Amino acid sequence: MGSIRENLSSIQSTLPSEVCLVAVSKTKPISDLQEAYDAGQREFGENKIQEMTEKWEQLPKDIHWHMIGHVQTNKIKYMAPFVYLIHGCDREKVVKVVNKEAAKVNRVIDVLLQVHIAEEDSKFGFDEAELDELISSSRLCDYPNVRVRGLMGMATFTDNKDQIAREFKALKALFDKYAPDFGPEFNTLSMGMSGDYQLAVECGSTMVRVGSSIFGARNYQ
Ligand SMILES: *Cc1c(COP(=O)(O)O)cnc(C)c1O
Repeated sequence: MGSIRENLSSIQSTLPSEVCLVAVSKTKPISDLQEAYDAGQREFGENKIQEMTEKWEQLPKDIHWHMIGHVQTNKIKYMAPFVYLIHGCDREKVVKVVNKEAAKVNRVIDVLLQVHIAEEDSKFGFDEAELDELISSSRLCDYPNVRVRGLMGMATFTDNKDQIAREFKALKALFDKYAPDFGPEFNTLSMGMSGDYQLAVECGSTMVRVGSSIFGARNYQ
């Protein structure tokens, strides 16, 4: 593995220019994020609101912070003042509370609706029937401080590339299906991680979330 700077530039060189690279820095120390920042990286992804807030306090304010993990609604207030994009809106309750907390700080917060595309039960998200119901209802209009920018999904954790490609293509099809229900701001399809981001881009991803290929393996204690 190279340095963080080398890893970032080699990944960037494989990505089409219109694909956004989110550097997933969860569990990593501030010094690693600073190194990525110094190399020009501005999009960072975290999966815990408290950890993201602590890092936001310590790092330059032009960073775009992406909340990519499962969202606990009682903690949304901590990130409402600064979060750039919430990928993990996996149930209507999250959208509702984001709307409430965004209004309190006079913001419109961008979100992605997380879709359950994997075979595993453990991955969070809406299924197609739930999305159909939510989007065809007028309820999203009740949340004027939330702007839906697109969809996010995670493929099954498997080595089977055909299965992963099938899941990514299914998510891209849903993205194309719902795009007409939103405006041109519905332009973000967040899919792909270290192991599968190239495949995700081939399947239509516009935003990849890459952690270990940039910062190295994570140590969970
Ligand atoms: C941790 C995480 C990633 C990054 O995973 P890597 O395999 O380290 O690239 C991407 N997306 C989500 C939702 C994550 O939690």
